[in-house]
Amino acid sequence: MQTPDYQRLDRAHHLHPFTDFKALGEEGSRIIERAEGVYIHDAEGHRILDGMAGLWCVNLGYGREELVAAATEQLHRLPYYNNFFKTTHPPAVKLAEKLCRLAPAHLNHVFFTGSGSEANDTVLRMVRRYWALKGKPEKQWVIGRENGYHGSTVAGMSLGGMAPMHGQGGPGVPKIAHVRQPYWFGEGRFGEGRPAGQDPEAFGRECAAALEAKIQELGEDQVAAFIAEPVQGAGGAIIPPASYWPAVKAVLAKYDILLVVDEVICGFGRLGEWFGSVHYGLEPDLMPIAKGLSSGYLPIGGVLVGDRVAETLIEEGGEFFHGFTYSGHPACAAVALRNLELMEAEGVVQRVRDDVGPYLAERWAALAGHPLVGEARSLGLIGALELVDPASGERFDSARGVGPLCRDLCFAGGLVMRSVGDTMIISPPLVISHAEIDELMEKARAALDATLARLATPTTPTTPKQEESLP
Ligand SMILES: *Cc1c(COP(=O)(O)O)cnc(C)c1O
Repeated sequence: MQTPDYQRLDRAHHLHPFTDFKALGEEGSRIIERAEGVYIHDAEGHRILDGMAGLWCVNLGYGREELVAAATEQLHRLPYYNNFFKTTHPPAVKLAEKLCRLAPAHLNHVFFTGSGSEANDTVLRMVRRYWALKGKPEKQWVIGRENGYHGSTVAGMSLGGMAPMHGQGGPGVPKIAHVRQPYWFGEGRFGEGRPAGQDPEAFGRECAAALEAKIQELGEDQVAAFIAEPVQGAGGAIIPPASYWPAVKAVLAKYDILLVVDEVICGFGRLGEWFGSVHYGLEPDLMPIAKGLSSGYLPIGGVLVGDRVAETLIEEGGEFFHGFTYSGHPACAAVALRNLELMEAEGVVQRVRDDVGPYLAERWAALAGHPLVGEARSLGLIGALELVDPASGERFDSARGVGPLCRDLCFAGGLVMRSVGDTMIISPPLVISHAEIDELMEKARAALDATLARLATPTTPTTPKQEESLP
């Protein structure tokens, strides 16, 4: 089969996630056939640097034989058995132990799921169950953040603050509220009606104050938990001002409210520590994980549970009526375990913190000099560029689609960089080399130049045909 054959069948039968089905049908999908290291290859033979590590997950890069071997061996030995009904198997037990050793000291239990969304469904059930067991069943509200992302199941979508998701499919889960996100560039600096001359740190404290106001509005005795990503991923690689997390911690310490830190992206080395919570000095009661846990080779997620909640669920809870057929699936657990062993043996996390993270930061910051870039930020191996109109220095009207144009030009130039509106984001495999970071930078700069050129010729259609401009 050739690309057009795949595209025809894809159009005829396949509904893609987060996709305008009709528009994609007209354009045709790109067919990715194989990958190695930090590169993916499409069916036309183009080699493309994957600046997104798949979907924030292929942390060890593609083509790791050790992970393939771990899956193969486990599939031969025991392809499936469940963890219900008082049974388990070696990979699930070993992975649980390994995770609890890597996690902050007070997190000593894990509940396995098949994905990050299921992990957040589990979180919602656990926090409400916890408070019911504590004799406070009225503590049910969970506070998330606008533009936060916690997955696409009904609970994940409800906990997240993605307005377009809330706009489809009717009401979400009741008793979930959202507060302002600590997005300095978008809502502090360029937010409507903002105080002039405010600095990012004052804005960070203001966001924490908004959380406190929401707790008071709902009633402290009604609020079960606050959920947040250490750095927002899908929302646009939003790195909070330094003042934000300490101020949030202080608010949560004042009231009896659980902290849920969604580590699905930040966990497993992305920020240069095993968990984003370590980077920011957080002490979460619950930590949903997924993505980089298996470097994306097989689907697996989970919730790391702090002692306070775990002891209550264990000692006072009786049966917890919750679980998934694939909770702790043996092959997925075996791959995740091997993935974590390799990360430890190869010092991947320290390398992000001490070597490639700082290297990327230095190169990435230089892109701020480009006329289209209003801000270039990064932390560890996550980064974002804010595109602005060079004439005014202001953000573009998002309807112009400048971010998506830049993304398409990146792809055409051999780089996967994603756009969230007019915010360009990267999250490359953690094993990326200096030379590959250099290549990423050259391609990003070339795409920015090409975007600028397109903007100067308004008659050109904004979305380039993939085929016409590929190398
Ligand atoms: C991707 C993501 C999820 C959802 O994970 P899935 O495996 O897609 O269900 C949840 N939280 C965060 C922070 C994510 O980035």
